[in-house]
Parts: sequence; structure tokens; C-alpha cells
Amino acid sequence: MVYDVVILGGGPAGLTAAIYASRARLSTLLIEKAYPGGQVVMCEKVENFPGFATSSSGYELSTAMKEQVDKFGASTKLAEITRLDLTSAIKILHTADGEEIHAKTIILSLGATPRKLNVPGEVEFLGRGVSYCAVCDAAFFKDKKLIVVGGGDTAVEDSHFLTRYASSVTIIHRRDKFRAQRIIQERALDNPTITVRWNSVVKSIGGKDSVDHVVLQNVHTNEETHVPVDGVFVLIGLDPNTKFLNGEITLDEMGYIVTDENMHTNIPGVFAAGDVRKKLLRQIVTACADGAIAATAAEKYVEEMDYSEAHAAHQSART
Ligand code: NAP
Repeated sequence: MVYDVVILGGGPAGLTAAIYASRARLSTLLIEKAYPGGQVVMCEKVENFPGFATSSSGYELSTAMKEQVDKFGASTKLAEITRLDLTSAIKILHTADGEEIHAKTIILSLGATPRKLNVPGEVEFLGRGVSYCAVCDAAFFKDKKLIVVGGGDTAVEDSHFLTRYASSVTIIHRRDKFRAQRIIQERALDNPTITVRWNSVVKSIGGKDSVDHVVLQNVHTNEETHVPVDGVFVLIGLDPNTKFLNGEITLDEMGYIVTDENMHTNIPGVFAAGDVRKKLLRQIVTACADGAIAATAAEKYVEEMDYSEAHAAHQSART
């Protein structure tokens, strides 16, 4: 079978694309590596998605989106795609199990993965004091001393959340200014359980069975300090999941996929949507918007492709 649309990645962008594509009566397959929802599943509270002011969890929101996908008849499949063959009109997706999936169009809604600090102790203490997800692991740190690394929305917002459990949270930021939105900063800076250590980086993470200290370094003076802590939350942003794309699709210098305003990449019939795309704002609402546009653009692409094929067949039947 050749699908009209194959969507790679089941976060909000992919789920929305699947809703729009299947409602447009395109044969649609959504491929996901694990449970649908992407990073949103880790969001304890979503309060800036329009219409959700009283908030639901990311899990509830993505589960509702998945139910909508099922309702409109898109197929879903758990698989890992290791290679794409985009050279001909019909694109081929190769799974880790050796299966081939054929598609007229592909929507890449591959999302992004948490960045690592790459310091000694980070890998050794993963799950034993080192975490990349506050919502997932906060409850393990009741009355504990924590540090949070980063200065963006995630680090600052999640520090506030972590104070529900932790006895203290120190944000370690490499500059003297946060990148986070002002409203998020204000909430954290007003919280008496949070302190900030500016111009500092983590040099190493240490302990015996679990984390019991970090070594911090001041980036101006190079002075190193040994700080006792029970946990380290590394919340320093994301890297787009584009490494397997092997050079055919145009990426920016950070590895995000470059598209036009209709989500079309440089390859005809290949679209991108959500956090994996180069853009100003990575939010659930922008991911959903991208997904809707990508599916609509894919629909138009498939219509034109089908029309051209039918026209060519008609012409050859007449000669
Ligand atoms: P981000 O905006 O890329 O911020 C990453 C932060 O980590 C920056 O402060 C950066 O420092 C720091 N950093 C990066 N690499 C580092 C390293 N190796 N060592 C130390 N510090 C490092 O990432 P994010 O906060 O995860 O946010 C990702 C996206 O999700 C953003 O678009 C954000 O707006 C969105 N988001 C929105 C909300 C919300 O609206 N409620 C919540 C969470 C996330 P510099 O500042 O010096 O570069």
C-alpha cells in the first residue's frame, strides 16, 4: 500500500497533522517510537493552550488528541524509522525491523531531545540524582536540596514546580540574565525556596550510591566550589531529532529543519512540523498550528500528484 501521508512522530504536531489529514480523507499513518504525546506528556500542567485556562495535564491533553486521531480513522504504528529514501515520487521509510513503508508525502514531526551537560558524573548518576524531567522525578526529592541547571523557560518554571517537594532549589545559570519569559522569572524569583547562582556552570557531579555534591565554577573568576546537593535537574534545552536525516533535508546551524510558511521542506512532498522545525516559538499551540498547515499542504500536494498521474494515464490511453 502507498499511504497518502505518513507522519513521523506523535507529539502535538504529529497528532494534529493526523487529525487534519484523516479528516481530509487521506490515507494516513502516524508512526511513533513510544507512547504518543511527545514531550507534552511530561507537562504537569498546561495553562497556556487556548481554552484550557483552568488547565489539564499534558498527559490528558495528548490522550484527548490521540482519541481524536483514532476517531477520524488514521492508522498508528509503533516503529523506529532508521532511514528515509526520498529520491523518487513515492518515498520509502525503512524501519529498524527491516520493513518498508511507502508514502506520497511525509510529515516530519520528530520533536527534540533534552540536551546533556557532558560533565563527569552526569551519566553515572542518571536516575540516581540526575534527571532531565522535573515533572517525572520531582516527587523523588521530598525535602531534598536540588540544583537546576539552565536559564530558559523550562529551568525557571520547573524550579518553581520543584519547590513543592524540595527543601531548597538553586538555579545555576551560566550568564547573569535569564532567557525565560518575564512572568515565569517573576514567579520563581518571588519564591523564597529558590536562589540563583549567576555566571556559574557545573564542572562535575559526584557521590557514592547517589548524587551528594556538585562542583560549580564561576565563569568569570574560574573559582570552583564544592556544593552538597541531593539532586541535579539538567534543563538546558533541546536538540532536534534530525540526526538520521543524512543530509538530504536542509537544516539550520542548530539542526532544526528549514521549511517555508506551508511547512514544505526543500524536498517536494516532505513537510516538517512542531519543535523539529526552525521557528521562533516552540509551544503546544504552535506545534498544533504547524501540524494543521502541514497536513493541509500535504493534501494539496497529493491532489496535484493524483491529478498529474490521472492526466498522464489519460493522455497515454488516447495515443
Ligand atoms: P532554551 O530556551 O533553549 O533555554 C536553554 C537554557 O539553558 C538557556 O538559558 C541556556 O543558556 C542554558 N544552556 C544551554 N546549554 C547549556 C549548557 N551546556 N550549560 C549550561 N547552560 C546551558 O530551552 P528550554 O528552556 O527548554 O525551552 C525550550 C522551548 O520550550 C523554548 O522555546 C521555550 O520558550 C519553550 N517552553 C515554554 C514554556 C512556557 O511557555 N510555559 C515552558 C517550557 C518551555 P543561555 O541563556 O546562556 O543560552
